[in-house]
Amino acid sequence: MLDRIRIVLIGTSHPGNIGAVARAMHNMGLADLALVAPRCEPLTSESISRASGADHIVHAARRVETLEEAVADCTLAVGASARSRTLPWPMITPRVLGERLPQELSAPEARVALVFGREDSGLSNAELQRCHAHVHIPTNPDFSSLNLAAAVQVLAYECRLAWLAADGGAGEQEEETHQPLASHAELENYFSHLERTLIAIGFHDPAMPRQLMARLRRFTLRARPERMELNILRGILSATEKCAPGKSDES
Ligand code: SAH
Repeated sequence: MLDRIRIVLIGTSHPGNIGAVARAMHNMGLADLALVAPRCEPLTSESISRASGADHIVHAARRVETLEEAVADCTLAVGASARSRTLPWPMITPRVLGERLPQELSAPEARVALVFGREDSGLSNAELQRCHAHVHIPTNPDFSSLNLAAAVQVLAYECRLAWLAADGGAGEQEEETHQPLASHAELENYFSHLERTLIAIGFHDPAMPRQLMARLRRFTLRARPERMELNILRGILSATEKCAPGKSDES
């Protein structure tokens, strides 16, 4: 899914922003970058340094003269806009954009373009009117314009979240290391050991229990401890018992 999402930058004037966009894209697993009539040389020492290792995306970026060329093969184009325009247009939030992507991209030939404007003047009305919908990142209304790469980062993150939720990333997510959980019997042995120790050190008085053991049980069970973790706790109890006044070290 992510390989069919294109980031389109129109009239970018700072090479550093192009590099930072490449970095944001690569961080989120996007790779398809199109530069429409850039107003700077995209590949400079500054763009490469801001790309921080993602400059292959700038090298591979397609350079075209018009928005039409950049999105010709796209089935959905969404324009990112920092402010509301005179002519109302379908407006979606970044989250809704993400949620729509799996459906939009369900056909193998489908392609989505996210279109970003110039640092100084954004997207023109004509460009916005070439987009199916507009997306606005909710911001402080008194200061609504994000840096270009920051705007790309937010939308690319929503794309990635949607992709992960759609299970696309199942194979890519880090394997959680599953340690065996403590069994019921191991937990009961631990609770007996805990109670014995708390009595031995004078912390717990079985004649005045005040729900102490119940609370400690609830706390421990909520944590779903692993066997290894319980072994550590039992080790601590054994060591504590040894320090208890006049107490043997049976466990
Ligand atoms: N000064 C310009 C904004 C330039 S920011 C203006 O007033 O329109 C460069 C680009 O980043 C914008 O064209 C837009 O594509 C994107 N962007 C910045 N802030 C955004 C926001 N809050 N929501 C959506 N896109 C935003």
